[in-house]
Order: sequence, then C-alpha cells, then structure tokens
Amino acid sequence: MFDLSANLEELALQNLYRSRRIVESPQSVELVIDGRKVVNFCSNDYLGLANYPDIAKAFKQAVDEYGVGSGAAHLICGHSREHHALEEELAEFTGRSRALLFSTGYMANLGVISALLERGDTVLEDRLNHASIIDGGLLSGAKLKRYLHVDLAHLARLLAEHSVINQPISSSSFDRLRTNGDEVKASRNKRQLIVTDGVFSMDGDIAPLPDLARTAKKHDAWLMVDDAHGFGVLGNKGGGVLEQFNLTRDEVPIVVGTLGKAFGAFGAFVAGSEELIEFLIQKSRTYIYTTAMPSAVAAATRASLKIVQTENWRRDKLQELVNHFRQGAAQLGLTMLPSTTPIQPVVLGSSEQALTASRALFDRGFLVSAIRPPTVPKNSARLRVTFSAGHELQQVDQLLSTLENVLT
Ligand code: PMP
Repeated sequence: MFDLSANLEELALQNLYRSRRIVESPQSVELVIDGRKVVNFCSNDYLGLANYPDIAKAFKQAVDEYGVGSGAAHLICGHSREHHALEEELAEFTGRSRALLFSTGYMANLGVISALLERGDTVLEDRLNHASIIDGGLLSGAKLKRYLHVDLAHLARLLAEHSVINQPISSSSFDRLRTNGDEVKASRNKRQLIVTDGVFSMDGDIAPLPDLARTAKKHDAWLMVDDAHGFGVLGNKGGGVLEQFNLTRDEVPIVVGTLGKAFGAFGAFVAGSEELIEFLIQKSRTYIYTTAMPSAVAAATRASLKIVQTENWRRDKLQELVNHFRQGAAQLGLTMLPSTTPIQPVVLGSSEQALTASRALFDRGFLVSAIRPPTVPKNSARLRVTFSAGHELQQVDQLLSTLENVLT
C-alpha cells in the first residue's frame, strides 16, 4: 500500500492541507455553515444569479419536460433542443459563428487545446493561467512555454525562439501517431497557440488582449482566451473581455467561457468559427467521451443569459462595491493587486498567514477562502475576496473593519 498518511501530514505541516466546509443553504451572499450565518465573500456568483427565482423556474420546468439525466454524450443521443438553442444563443452573444457546450470549463480547456495541438507544436501560456489551461497544454503533447505574467516582451522572445512558420510536423511524431492511434493524421505545418485567462482567476487583473492579438498575428500564432471570470462581468452587455476591447473573430479565434460563475449555472462553452466547432465535435475527447450536461441546466442557462445581457445594474453595482472596497483597503494599507474586477485578493505571503486570517474572519462571520500554493505562486498566499451584485455596501464596510481587526 502507498503511505498516504505521510503525504497528508506533510501537507498539514506546510499549511497546505485543504478541507471543505459543508454549506446548508442556497448559494447567496449569506450562507449557513455549521448552523451559523456567514457573509460570503469568496464565491464566483458575481451577478447573484446562482439562486435567482426566474432561473430556478426555468430549470424546474425543463426537468418536467426533459427529466433529469441527459442519457448519453452529445454525439450519441444526449444533445437536446435546449442544448442546441443555448449553443445558438451563446454564438450570438459572443459574436462568433458557432458555440459548443462542454460539461465543465476544465474539460473545455483540456478538450480544445489537446484537439488542436500535438507533439511538435508549441503552446505559449501566461504563468498565471488557470490549472485547466496548463493541463490542456500538457495533455496535448505540445511543447509548453510559460511567459512571465502579462509580459509581452517575454512572449515575443519565446515565439521568436520557437518560430515554426511553414515547418512541417516531424515524421517521428507521425510515426508515434500511426503506431499508437488507429488513424493517420494528414501532414500539416507546426502550430503555435497562445492561451491566456481573460481575467486572471486568482489575481483579478485583465489580460492585455489587444497586444496579445497583435503579437499572435505577427508570429502567425493563434490566440485562445478563457474568459471564465470576464463573461457577465465586463462589457456593457456582459460580453467579457471581447466586448470590453471590441476584439474581432480574427483577433481572437478561440474563446472559452464557463457557465458556473457569473451565469450562476454550470458547464462551459467554446465559441469560434464553423470550422473550429466542427473540428472539436470530431476530435475533442472531453467533448466526445462524456455525458452531456442535463437539459435543465441548459434551459436554466438560457434564462440566465437573458438576465446577463439586460440587467446592467448588476455590473454597475459590482463596480460600486469594488471601488468602495479598494478605497477602504488602501486606507488600511492592505497589499492589493492591480485589479478592477470583482476578484480583489489581499496578498499576505505565507500559507500560514492566509490560513490564520481566513479562520479569524470565519470566526467573525465572514467566509473568505485562503488561496495557497500551488494555486498561486509560493510566498503569495492570499485571501481571495470576491464580490457579488447581491452584496450591500454595509457588508463591505463590515468586511473592511473586520479585516482591520484581523490583519493590522
Ligand atoms: N478557467 C478558469 C479561468 C477558471 O477559473 C475555472 C474555474 N475556477 C475554470 C476554467 C474551470 O471551470 P469549471 O469550474 O466550469 O470547470
């Protein structure tokens, strides 16, 4: 038997042990945990839609119509009218020709990158990209190059070092595919794919997408953006970083969004050209070999998408809360990051400090999770404070005064 107890002890000693709290209430700005009410400042339910009546109603009606399970993968018999309608609405929302649903964002990133790339290709990633993007790069077999956070000069150097324009994939790579797979791939040139979070999940800052798009074009690379934390939150209609920067399909040909955050539902999508989506349907293993999300989740997300696009007050409220928090945190002298989004981390340094602060906040009625390595780089453990349109300014003031007591 493996000796896992030693591993667990080691994690505990390093303050890296993770445990779950059991929530006894719906997702909301107030949660009940261990029979106690706490104010929730760590959810990704940015627009306050996770427990919104109209969305819950759409979910229940769809359960009455379609039942619970989807029965099979999309390519077998699991692709319902609700899934298809949601894909069409997401394509329109993102201004792309097509969209394709995935069961989670993690699977979308794994499935897209590993379908597009293979050994001999290169994937270039921001150092602070989400784990699923890094894992997608690893799974693809492509060379994985990580550039310093939002450092365009470093990215350009890596691209120049690995210039692959018009270089065919080497025959050894094809030999491997011939012997390991049951298909022979058509010969093609090497590919370079740049992938970035739109809004960085643990830091809250926004990727410099117009610059990234220019760099990608210059080096004949493709650009893929995972805007899990930007959709719903940024842009006048919640179109995320694409809308904020007004980026065209040519500039950003591959877009991933998740549905479990601002949309308050579950699942994810990829948006792009007709060809891209058809290719993913043929080749993306995390799309092909998994059960479709329940139709009721798709129906609920369709209801959510309408609210995301029309209820601007939710984004305005978020911005007001974020500005208020940042002003107060600056007055307290807290170490903040250059974020304008609802992700407002307070960087503390050691895992022990982050854990102690998170526990002290919990004892005082606030749920703010301690984010530690390997989720964030060493010595940058933090409290990841996030806001929801459901918060009130008074709750932000209470959080600030509690942070003052706990941290200063
Ligand atoms: N991408 C980013 C940037 C994320 O932050 C997350 C989730 N935290 C995901 C992808 C994964 O999405 P999902 O939770 O739907 O698997």
